[in-house]
Amino acid sequence: MCGSESLNVYYDEDVDLSVLKNEIVAVIGYGNQGRAQALNMRDSGVNVILGNVKDSYYDQAVKDGFKVYSIGEASKQGTIICMLIPDEVQKVVYETEIQQYLSKGKMLVFASGYNIDFGFIVPQKDVDVIDMFPLTFGTQVRERFVKKQSLGGFMAIGQDATGKAKQRALAVAKAIGCTSGGTFETTFAHETEINLYLEQVVYPAISRMMVLSFEVLVEAGYPPELVVLEMYLSKEPSEVFASMAELGFFEAAKGGSTTAQYGEMTRAPRIIKDDIKKTMKVHLREIQTGVFAKEWALEQAAGYPLFNKLRKQGLEHPMNEVEKRVKKVIRP
Ligand code: NDP
Repeated sequence: MCGSESLNVYYDEDVDLSVLKNEIVAVIGYGNQGRAQALNMRDSGVNVILGNVKDSYYDQAVKDGFKVYSIGEASKQGTIICMLIPDEVQKVVYETEIQQYLSKGKMLVFASGYNIDFGFIVPQKDVDVIDMFPLTFGTQVRERFVKKQSLGGFMAIGQDATGKAKQRALAVAKAIGCTSGGTFETTFAHETEINLYLEQVVYPAISRMMVLSFEVLVEAGYPPELVVLEMYLSKEPSEVFASMAELGFFEAAKGGSTTAQYGEMTRAPRIIKDDIKKTMKVHLREIQTGVFAKEWALEQAAGYPLFNKLRKQGLEHPMNEVEKRVKKVIRP
């Protein structure tokens, strides 16, 4: 069951930041990842400029002291171009504002392999293409860097046109802070597909269970306020996951009472039966074969009708009202 592939992991001491001394890093986008990565790289001594549409993110970047340009101008000046805008807009922005400024030896950096893995973006052959995926969301990328806490990442080389893609990629990883905890070498496909699988199977299964459990308990007459409070407003689930990461997936269960452990171990296989793996494999296959990516691209092209309908449905669920009531009375 366990893979035998050896892991290539790189830490701060393995990486030479001076590789970036003559580079200009153009960060495209100043959102979750963009702001965090730009600030971290600048604090690491890297020459960072910003490319953004002229709006509130642009103003924030100016306020933070960056030289901010249009996306085209930043791509023209940058020797390393970091694509830190949402995956679904990258293809159009790449084709209309970036591609014409890519010249031999430049490097394109993605923070998700999605557009390369599924062939939405096919860069020219004479540029380096890498995936530098921090293993957490943007605010944490910045907070952990500032607090000198460890941060990890995945790094993949898609194209090595210069023969130096790996040194450049690792230097970017170190400048962002991702070699403090360890940057793991992987492929675009593995990074992208594991990430999509977790987003589409594991986390939705947990959240769907929570919504259905709210309904079951409230229908059975339990106070909805107490249900949401104990289920997630207490933040206990995040503490359980943090404890799994600290102590080990099964070891962490010992932090609960023996009653809790017995209930969990005996009931888990009754609720989620092993044959669910057949369904899980169907979803994995949809990811691997690009069926999901195609469906999502068609949804975007149609103006997000299903996305908006489902989001509205979620926001109309009675849990939202109960949550608001409880949040008014609990002290943060
Ligand atoms: P955000 O949604 O935070 O990106 C916002 C930025 O993108 C803003 O600067 C915004 O500019 C710009 N933007 C949005 N739409 C457009 C457009 N049509 N044209 C030009 N610019 C646009 O993105 P994330 O930081 O969440 O994601 C960036 C990358 O990082 C993605 O590849 C994502 O998969 C990856 N990633 C994200 C993680 C996360 O925690 N969020 C974790 C790991 C990887 P404006 O609105 O001003 O136009």
